Amino acid sequence: MTQSIGFIGLGIMGQPMATNLVRAGYKVTVFNRTRSKAEPLEKAGARVAISPAEAARDADVVISIVSDSAAAEEVILGKGGALETLRAGAIVIDSSTISPIVSRRLACHTAGKGAQMLDAPVTGSKHGAEKGELTFMIGGERAVLDRAMSVLQVLGKKHIYCGQNGSGLAAKLAQNVIQAAMVEVFCEGFVLAAKAGVQPRTMFEIVQSSMARASLTDFKAPFIFKGDFTPYFPLKLMHKDLALAMEAAYAQGVAMPTAAAVKEVYGAAKAKGKGDQDYAAVITFLEEIAGVQVRD
Ligand code: NAP
Repeated sequence: MTQSIGFIGLGIMGQPMATNLVRAGYKVTVFNRTRSKAEPLEKAGARVAISPAEAARDADVVISIVSDSAAAEEVILGKGGALETLRAGAIVIDSSTISPIVSRRLACHTAGKGAQMLDAPVTGSKHGAEKGELTFMIGGERAVLDRAMSVLQVLGKKHIYCGQNGSGLAAKLAQNVIQAAMVEVFCEGFVLAAKAGVQPRTMFEIVQSSMARASLTDFKAPFIFKGDFTPYFPLKLMHKDLALAMEAAYAQGVAMPTAAAVKEVYGAAKAKGKGDQDYAAVITFLEEIAGVQVRD
């Protein structure tokens, strides 16, 4: 069994993931840019490092889950980054949702140290991370995945191998485009109904009785009706993923007209100061335009 794990990034997702690894008996050294977020992990039994390099020192597996491509480059390649101390034979598992191109570059640098990298973005949000029930989409060598599987099994219930480095991320971006559009169009429909005087609960009953029903919107609707936009997945990060998907679409000559429009709606909501709220807060942007609220 892998004994020693360096864990970088203790945000909404990283905090519960690292906690589950400590509880599973791994020796975990954590790093978070904002030191205070590491305190609960320290109490749970993790060691706290002052840099990603210190977290990676002597680690068999280094896991990172940070906001975006720039953050992933900083914690892996930057000054005091994990690569400074990474030992040959170690495995880097980056679960951040970042550009597949940047991820492949990180994999090359990792290989230069005699180590190997998997891109392993996740879906399942905060509650999936807490329960250890995330779904992983994985790119890299399958043999490396086999070696990392015992660790990944603590964090997730499903591990889907997608192919070479970067393909886990390619799949993740496609999945988030679908998810972003589903929530945004659900919100548009509910704003339209509310403007016409149909109660949100009535509309919800109709959607749940129809083919439009989806587990994602079943989950989000009660939060929307309460006006509770505590972030499970911050809107600014959904906008970032849509921007990454559009970059990938451009690079590959794929037309994504609906995703392009949806990205602009999230972008406008972010510009209105809603970026740190859950991405379901996109409805408040639509509500403000329509002059109506979708609430109980
Ligand atoms: P979050 O709560 O905003 O946490 C972001 C983390 O990245 C924090 O630990 C933050 O450190 C760190 N960070 C940001 N910039 C950094 C930098 N320049 N250097 C070092 N650390 C930096 O985000 P999250 O929801 O956990 O998401 C993390 C990743 O998982 C993102 O790529 C996101 O797209 C993906 N994801 C999230 C969800 C979800 O439902 N939340 C689901 C699937 C995938 P500080 O604490 O110092 O700010």
